[in-house]
Amino acid sequence: MQAVDQQPRITASPVADPLHIWPGLAGAAEAEAWVEDHLAAARSAIAGLLAVTEPPSVENTLVPYDRARWHLGMAGSQSGVMFMVHPLAEVRDAAQRLSQVIGAESVALSLNREVYQALAALHASLTEGSSAAGPATLYYLDRTLLSYRLSGVDKDEATRQRIRSLADRMTALGMSFSRTVQDDVRKITVADPNELLGLPEDYLARHGVHRVQGSTSSPADESSDSLAQHLVAAAPVTLTTDPPEMTPVMSYATSPQLRRRMYQAYNDRGYPANRQVLLDLLAAREEMATLLGFRSWADLATVDQMMGSAAHLRSFLDQVESTARETAQREFAELEEFVRERDPGALPLTLSDARFWEEQFRRSRLDFDSQSVRPYFPYAQVEAGILATAGRLFGVKFAPVEDAVVWAPGVKVFDVIDDAPGSAVLGQTIGRIYLDMHPREGKSKWFSECSLVSGVLGRQLPEASLVCNFPQPNGSDPGLMLYSDVVTCFHEFGHLMHEVLGGRQRWAGQSGISTEGDFVEVPSQMLEEFFADPELVRGFARHYQTGEPIPQDVFARMVRAGAHGRALATLTQVMYATYSLETHDQPAATLDLDGLLRAGYDRFSYYQFVEGNRMYAAFTHLVGYTSNYYTYLYDKVIALEFFSEFDLKLLSESPTPLRYRREVLEPGGSKPARELVRAFLGREASMSALKSWIAREFDAS
Ligand SMILES: [Zn+2]
Repeated sequence: MQAVDQQPRITASPVADPLHIWPGLAGAAEAEAWVEDHLAAARSAIAGLLAVTEPPSVENTLVPYDRARWHLGMAGSQSGVMFMVHPLAEVRDAAQRLSQVIGAESVALSLNREVYQALAALHASLTEGSSAAGPATLYYLDRTLLSYRLSGVDKDEATRQRIRSLADRMTALGMSFSRTVQDDVRKITVADPNELLGLPEDYLARHGVHRVQGSTSSPADESSDSLAQHLVAAAPVTLTTDPPEMTPVMSYATSPQLRRRMYQAYNDRGYPANRQVLLDLLAAREEMATLLGFRSWADLATVDQMMGSAAHLRSFLDQVESTARETAQREFAELEEFVRERDPGALPLTLSDARFWEEQFRRSRLDFDSQSVRPYFPYAQVEAGILATAGRLFGVKFAPVEDAVVWAPGVKVFDVIDDAPGSAVLGQTIGRIYLDMHPREGKSKWFSECSLVSGVLGRQLPEASLVCNFPQPNGSDPGLMLYSDVVTCFHEFGHLMHEVLGGRQRWAGQSGISTEGDFVEVPSQMLEEFFADPELVRGFARHYQTGEPIPQDVFARMVRAGAHGRALATLTQVMYATYSLETHDQPAATLDLDGLLRAGYDRFSYYQFVEGNRMYAAFTHLVGYTSNYYTYLYDKVIALEFFSEFDLKLLSESPTPLRYRREVLEPGGSKPARELVRAFLGREASMSALKSWIAREFDAS
């Protein structure tokens, strides 16, 4: 308790404004009017800031600037959410259009020289004088001015002109790259239906393939020995490279030839068109970085992140590699030994064999079938379990709000009530969450957490939503979830709690998830780890028919299967991160995309390279993350270090969960993330938690 009491108290925050959820539920016209109101409010705040004639002060300069950001942020995030979730196509279309308008307005503000000069003058006056501005305010100004400089606002007019044209070119090239990938669906034709052996029944049925029973087959053979079966089809079967068609082939098809053809088709998407588009994009980024005074794009893209520079990133990736190397060798050796016993002719293993043999290994050696645990995870129980877990960990309660305005039937709303001992706002509402958890016609297919309203201390409570696609309970079907679904649910809930608990800042620009971009996946990946705690999970994982908790041994096998292959998977992530770094750090003019890819596989993968693999032509992360694909890996390292601070056996008496809430989540973006890490761990993050996480599979055996 002592550790908790030492934290700064938070003052109470009444809700000054009514709820700010988009009223455009009725139609596109209302949506447009609502957005226009927020744009007008933002413009008026900026006009007020620029009209100031007195010396700059926090009140006359930073307050209106932040207010403008609050309006633009809210209009932008709600337009984005409505584009993903609104049941009416008309409103989704309007939301997409409006997102572009708001985006352009936000870009204009981020390039506004007069605003930059006003903020810079304020910064100078605060740092010269003995100002009363606190560290959060100074940090806000520092970050804001840095992002202005990184967009070239302080360069001469000719340079700014060039930067603008490069930015437009980068946007156009990025969109072209992504659209080509989206549209490039390859087809492969399967003349002999027996090549489809091993694939699930529903997959075969969808492709008009039927099973002919051999005379010696008993029903028990059906699943265990598919090689004894024959498959027939009226016509040649066509498969596409869309993930729902591709993934089962890579995981279950017993034919190595079919897997290889699918692998080659999938990893050729975007080629050849995207090869040149990517080279042009990388050249434009390089020129932009040079104009802004950086050696490479990778240095520019990491300078305002925790990572700091390309050199730090390279040494981070080296450390992860050496942490995973030994276990990866062991994992691959076990797999090879397994294949040698089963089918020596299948050696050496290539990249197109990886998923199939991993799946066989998991079933046979780890005795785990991911379908078998689904009856313990009906949706409603998982939801209740996660609310209970989050409540217990973070010191909050969730109160259902029956009459809240929502965008579609079935969206659940809860007020978040502070329930933390010693909290200054104990018993008060501190935010609101929306759970839009199941698929719906016209709804985005992704899983995400989205801010709806940024919290501002004393003015506005934070509101945020989950937009997910978990199985929908329906009549006698309780919506049974897969292991990976439950992990995703914990992950997204981690973001949601960060958004709400970090939503009590003086500045909207520091509210909720507004840390450096490469810290954002820490709270989400940290919460995922709690799904491996038997006491906690057995509290809600009960068979939907018998009510029996998930058996200990089934749980243990599930956790072990989840831990299987972590070292190899980590090295694969290091390989992608290295590719993302090197393509943005080496001179674009002499870059060899194919050579770099081959070198990456040769260094980080134990599987043999498949000729014709040109995955860079469809590696869309290079558009969005640019050089910073490392983010998930980097945050995994920190999340595991954080998780190792929790003593699961003593969770209910321990001060650690509240300390985590106070020191990591509640500051939002008001401090550098490095300070959050040091405050919670009492030291820098190391590789030790990652090392034991990777080796956990072998601990259990
Ligand atoms: Zn995430």
